Amino acid sequence: MKMRSLLDEIRIIVGPAGLITSPHEFAPYATDWRKRYVGKPLAVVRPASTAEVARVVRTCSEARTAIVPQGGNTGLCGAATPDASGSQIVLNLSRMNRLRGIDARNNTMTVEAGCVLANLQKAAEEAGRLLPLSLAAEGSCEIGGNLSTNAGGTAVLRYGNARELVLGLEVVLPSGEIWDGLRGLRKDNTGYDLKQLFIGAEGTLGVITAAVLKLFPLPKSRATAVVALQNPEKALTLLDRALGACGERLTGFELFSDFCLSLVLKHFKDAAAPFPRRFPHYVLMELSDTQPGEGARTLAESVLEAALEEEVILDAAVAQSETQARAFWSLREFISEAQAHEGPNIKHDVSIPIARIAEFISATDAELARAHPGVRMVTFGHLGDGNLHYNVSPPEGTAPDVFANESAPINRIVHDSVARFGGSISAEHGLGQLKREEIRRYKSPLELELMLKIKRALDPYGIMNPGKVL
Ligand SMILES: Cc1cc2nc3c(=O)[nH]c(=O)nc-3n(C[C@H](O)[C@H](O)[C@H](O)COP(=O)(O)OP(=O)(O)OC[C@H]3O[C@@H](n4cnc5c(N)ncnc54)[C@H](O)[C@@H]3O)c2cc1C
Repeated sequence: MKMRSLLDEIRIIVGPAGLITSPHEFAPYATDWRKRYVGKPLAVVRPASTAEVARVVRTCSEARTAIVPQGGNTGLCGAATPDASGSQIVLNLSRMNRLRGIDARNNTMTVEAGCVLANLQKAAEEAGRLLPLSLAAEGSCEIGGNLSTNAGGTAVLRYGNARELVLGLEVVLPSGEIWDGLRGLRKDNTGYDLKQLFIGAEGTLGVITAAVLKLFPLPKSRATAVVALQNPEKALTLLDRALGACGERLTGFELFSDFCLSLVLKHFKDAAAPFPRRFPHYVLMELSDTQPGEGARTLAESVLEAALEEEVILDAAVAQSETQARAFWSLREFISEAQAHEGPNIKHDVSIPIARIAEFISATDAELARAHPGVRMVTFGHLGDGNLHYNVSPPEGTAPDVFANESAPINRIVHDSVARFGGSISAEHGLGQLKREEIRRYKSPLELELMLKIKRALDPYGIMNPGKVL
C-alpha cells in the first residue's frame, strides 16, 4: 500500500477530526516531555473508539507501517516519541476518554485508555471510592500510558504499582484483533495472566484501549508529618517502626536530603522550611485512615514521640491543617522542578532492596565524589518502595555542555552500583529509547531472549513501537 493510500484509508476510518498530517500541528506529539527526543511522524492518528483503533492497526499492519502508541506524552524515556524517518504513525489515544462505568459494590471502574488520571481520581471520589494511583503528572498523563509504563507514584507503599491496580484489560493486538479481557474478577486462575504482559510493555506488544481498575475505601482522615533525621539509615529504622505500628495506615514515606530542600526554598519563593533550623535529611510521612477523627494523627504523634526519645529522629512537625499538609507535600513534589531551574543534572530512577538503600547511597556517593570531585547529589524518592531518584548535579560553576560529557561515566558508576546492590536501573519510568541499550548490560541474555520471543510471537512484523525497550 502506498503512503498516500494508507493515509486516505486511515482518514476514512477516523474522520478528519482524527487525523493530523501538518508538521506544524503534529509537533507537540513528536517531542517528548523533556524535549530530549524529537521525531517526525508520517501522521498523528487520534481514534475515538476501540473499533477505530482496531481498524487503524489492521490497516497499518497490512502496510507494515510502524505505530507509536501515545497517551498524555508525559513519559520520561522517549517511549512515546516516533523516530525521525517520517514513516511512523503516532496513535494518540486522548479522544478515547469515556468512563464506561463505576461498580461501587465491586469496587471497580471501567475506563478508556485516554482518560486523564486526575479525572478518574475525581470520578472515583464522587462515587465515594479511592483510585490510589497518584503522581505529579496526573493532570496530563492518561491511564493507558500509566498502565503501559506500570507507573508508580506516591501511594505504592500501601496500594502497589499500576500493575497491582488492574483487574482487566481490553487490548488491540498488532494484528488488529481485539482482545476483550475486561473482567472485574479478583480471582481468576484460568491460565496465563495475559493482561500483565501488556502492563509495563511501553506499547511494544499492543494498544491498551480500556481497563477495569480496582477502587478502595476513601480515607476519611490523614496525618502528614515532616521528620528530620541524621541519615538514610535512621530513615530506614523509622520506616520499620512506622510500618510495625501503623500497618496499612502508612501510605506515604518519602525521603529527601537537605540539598533538595535548599533547591526548593531557592526556586519557590512561597515554600517554607519545616523547622527553624536545618538537618541533613528529611522524611515526609503520611498516615491515612478510613475512620474520621484524630486517630491517624494520634498514631503518627505516638510513633514520632517514641522515635524522638530513642534518638532515631532529630525533630518532627505534624501538619495542623490541610493547608499545612499540602505545603509539606509540596516540599517533596517541587524537587524535580527546582532541580530543573538550578540547571542540568544527570538523572537516575533506580530501585534497591529497601534494607540496603542507606548502604547504596553512601557507597555510590563516595565513588562519585572520588571520580568526579565536587558533584552534588540530589537524592530523594519513595523510600517506602525502595525507589530513589538519585540525580547528580555538576560542581558549582560547571558549564552545562561540559557536564553533559560526563553523563556516560556517571551513569556507569551509578548503574553498576545499583547492579551490585541487587537493584533495578529503572524503577518507575521504563526503558523507552533512553535505557534500551543500557539494560543489555544488566539483564541476563536468557531474560532478554525471553522478552524477544514474546515480542516476536505477538508482533511478528515488528510494527508496534519499534526501537523502544528491546
Ligand atoms: C512531572 C512528572 C512527574 C512524574 N512522576 C512520576 C511518578 O511519580 N511515577 C511514575 O511512574 N512516573 C512518573 N512520571 C512519568 C510519567 O508521567 C508516567 O510514565 C506516566 O505513566 C505516562 O503516562 P502518559 O499517558 O503520559 O504516557 P506516554 O508518555 O504518552 O506514553 C508512555 C508509554 O506508554 C505507551 N502508551 C501510552 N498509551 C498507551 C496505550 N493506550 N496502549 C499502549 N501503549 C501506550 C507509549 O507508547 C509509551 O511507551 C512523571 C512525569 C512527569 C512529567
